[in-house]
Amino acid sequence: MLLLLRRVLSALPIVGFLSVAGITPLSAESIDSRPVLYLTFDDGPSADRVTQDLLQVLDRYDAKATFFVTGQRTRISPDKIAAILYAGHSLGNHTDSHARLTEVSRAEIFYELNAANVAVTRAGGPPLTCFRPPFGLTDARVNSIANELGLIPVKWTIDTRDWDFTTSKGYIREKLDRSHDGSIVLMHDGPIKRGRMLHAFEEWMVDNHHRFQFRTLPQCDIYGEVTLAYSVEEETQPETIDQLLEKLRAYRFTLDQIVGQASEPVTTAKLAQEVIAQ
Ligand SMILES: [Zn+2]
Repeated sequence: MLLLLRRVLSALPIVGFLSVAGITPLSAESIDSRPVLYLTFDDGPSADRVTQDLLQVLDRYDAKATFFVTGQRTRISPDKIAAILYAGHSLGNHTDSHARLTEVSRAEIFYELNAANVAVTRAGGPPLTCFRPPFGLTDARVNSIANELGLIPVKWTIDTRDWDFTTSKGYIREKLDRSHDGSIVLMHDGPIKRGRMLHAFEEWMVDNHHRFQFRTLPQCDIYGEVTLAYSVEEETQPETIDQLLEKLRAYRFTLDQIVGQASEPVTTAKLAQEVIAQ
């Protein structure tokens, strides 16, 4: 029930947020009408500079993305979790050890998903709301355990195969060229991909960044979580912006993150300005 409610709310986060906050949404003309692209980076965070390099490229083009991290790598580089969040990106669960979930026991599936959740929250991250099964391997058993943990499965629609040494930069660019409205692009955050993937991705962004708006996956968007918590309480108790901010702080949010996580950046930036002005 909660999961369903969360899905509905994450599809409509701004309406609930703004109507409660008493702020008028901006007019339709100001809404970005470019196609939406969901960039996703799996297997990080990286113990070397790859995560930071990726964050720099994304920041240069004001692009938001979703990072599906493993528990093991999060424990090795917990500081990267904050860096990803503070840059306005979202996080997803990619299991603890990059396990083939369809080939292990129920107890191991639970352990893999739960341990990655715990690693991220210990590193200062929010409760995760989505997961991507390693190798795309999932089935009804995996999905039911993920559902118990409040994790929505997310695969991809475009695979750049950037993990493969034989994949050329041209191939990655060609795959990225196939992006259209709503595409979910699979790429990787990790040491062996550094040269080719980063260069191919950056070159593509130089040429194509103006064509798209790059957003975090709604399934992974912690902004939806906050909206959920807020809306549930709203039924019994009206709140002021101050009280709302208090709640956001409890979720380790900052105003920058709220802006970064929003599905409607301009409108949320307006909200942030109004909050600051108070
Ligand atoms: Zn992976």
